Amino acid sequence: MSEEVILQVKEISRAFGGIKAANKVSLELARGEILGIIGPNGSGKTTLINLITGFIKKDSGSVFFKNRNITKLPPHRIADLGIARTFQVMRPYHSLPAYRNLIVPLYSPRVKRASGGKLGDRDAVAIDLLEEIGFERDAYVPYKLASSLPLGYLKRLELARCLALRPEVVLCDEVFSGLSMAEIATMVPIVEKLQMNGITIMMIEHRLRELFQLANRVIVMNFGEKIAEGIPEAVMADKKVREAYLGTEVT
Ligand code: ADP
Ligand code: MG
Repeated sequence: MSEEVILQVKEISRAFGGIKAANKVSLELARGEILGIIGPNGSGKTTLINLITGFIKKDSGSVFFKNRNITKLPPHRIADLGIARTFQVMRPYHSLPAYRNLIVPLYSPRVKRASGGKLGDRDAVAIDLLEEIGFERDAYVPYKLASSLPLGYLKRLELARCLALRPEVVLCDEVFSGLSMAEIATMVPIVEKLQMNGITIMMIEHRLRELFQLANRVIVMNFGEKIAEGIPEAVMADKKVREAYLGTEVT
């Protein structure tokens, strides 16, 4: 992990009606780190990703990527700079084979620039990428229709769609949720490998045990506010955090 701050969020806020979904949230991502975001349902975790990536408007606050102010950029421009996100509710192209779902990012201007126009056969690139992320090529899984894939593969496909963009930062919204213990166990080394390849990761996760295996640092959200930040052990020992999780399982 380097000392370089790759993404800086300064006091971003957003209210929906009377609800402060994000209330002056600030955070920094160091290049190469895995930052975990946890907090009860409705605490503003997804809103945070939506605000950073321009999917919803900020009432106030700012976001910097590599010291460049990206506060007002639209989602496609932010993605083009190299910040990719997964969606908690996935919307794959159901009627297309899994690998064809990666065609949109593979034809993006960012990938064209990165490959100097020499990406070659996009289908082959897509299938290679899916194989890396656990789609068994021998069993023709990359060729199966997205509509026929079980959740575990759809979550991988969602992550692969981000990776196809050759991002520097990936913001993951609950990529482990709904997966079996065995499926998560196969996802953990995939996320580790992304980090080893230099990708900076922010991951919202409910599965604390698995998240804490991966995260260098954790931020805890509650009612739209950041209530704690630090290494997992210290954060979970915090009184405010334990109160926020009262009645829910803290592993
Ligand atoms: P989390 O991801 O932590 O479960 P969210 O960020 O999805 O929480 O939501 C935070 C709060 O903002 C919730 O009270 C939610 O109902 C509200 N909220 C989020 N998005 C919208 C929206 N588009 N319109 C109205 N309220 C919203
Ligand atoms: Mg959410």
